[in-house]
Amino acid sequence: MTVIGQSHELERHARGAFVPTMGALHEGHLTLIRRAKNLAGNAPVVVSIFVNPTQFGPGEDFSKYPRMLVKDVELAMAAGADVIFAPEATTMYPPGQNVETPPLPDVATKPKLEDAFRPTHFAGVCQVVARLFDLVKPRWAVFGEKDWQQLQVITAMVEQQRPRWEDLEIVPHPTVRERDGLAMSSRNAYLNSSQRKQALALWRAMSEAKQEKSPAQAELVMRTILDESGFVVDYTVVRDAATLLPIDRYDQPARALIAARLENVRLIDNASIGGKP
Ligand code: AMP
Repeated sequence: MTVIGQSHELERHARGAFVPTMGALHEGHLTLIRRAKNLAGNAPVVVSIFVNPTQFGPGEDFSKYPRMLVKDVELAMAAGADVIFAPEATTMYPPGQNVETPPLPDVATKPKLEDAFRPTHFAGVCQVVARLFDLVKPRWAVFGEKDWQQLQVITAMVEQQRPRWEDLEIVPHPTVRERDGLAMSSRNAYLNSSQRKQALALWRAMSEAKQEKSPAQAELVMRTILDESGFVVDYTVVRDAATLLPIDRYDQPARALIAARLENVRLIDNASIGGKP
C-alpha cells in the first residue's frame, strides 16, 4: 500500500482499475474498491481521495465536507486498494496552469436536474475527472449509480473524447444502501437522528412510485411523499435512463430521480423504474 501525493509517482501504476472519491469512505465506496480489485486482476487498484473545490458551488458544503484521510487509507487498503492518490489542490490545479474543462455532453446540460440546481457542478466534475484520468491512466474506472446523472455524464464525456483515454471503460456499480433502504452517502453524517428517520422517505417514495403505471403518476407520488415528510423538493422525476430527458410512457429504460433537502442537508437518490433495467 502506498499513499502518494505527486502525480509523477502515478506513472508506475497505470492501466489498472481506478476509483475516484472525495473520501469519508463508507461501505458504498468500499464496494466500488472491491469491484475494482475484481476487474484489475494483477493490475493495480488506484483510489483517489480529493475534495475537489471546482465542483462545489458558492454556499455549498466544500469547507465542512468531512475529511479523514488516515482512517480512509486504512479502509481502502483493507478493501483492496494498492495505491491511494491524495493530492494537494496545487497538484491537481498547478498555479498558473490552465487545467481545461472538457466540452460538456448534453446529459450534463439538458436534463435540468443536478445541472439546474448545481449549475457549475458538472463542469467541475468533468474537469477533475478528466485530469484524474490523464494522471492515473486507468483501464477501468468504477463509478456508483448513486450519482446517476454524474455516471451518465462521465460515460458520455469519455465517449466524446475518444481516443484520449484509449480503451478506458466506465464501469457502473449499483447503489449500496443501509439495511432500511437509505443510500449510503458521506453527507448522511450531517443528518441528526430525526432527519435520519425522515430521510427514509426517499426510498419509500421510489418504492411506491414503482407501483404506478405512468411516469407522470410516479412523479406525483414521489413529490407527495417527500412534501408530506417535510422535505424541500428540488425534483422528483422519471426520465430516460441514459439521456435523462422527459418520457411520456415506459417504452425504454427509465430512471426515477430525486433531489430533496432537509434544512441544509441535500440528499439525492435514484432507482430503475418501469420494468426495464
Ligand atoms: P464521492 O466520494 O461521493 O464523490 O463518491 C465517489 C464514488 O462513490 C462515486 O462514483 C459515487 O457514485 C460512489 N458512491 C457514493 N455513494 C455510493 C453508494 N451508496 N453506493 C455506490 N456507490 C456510491
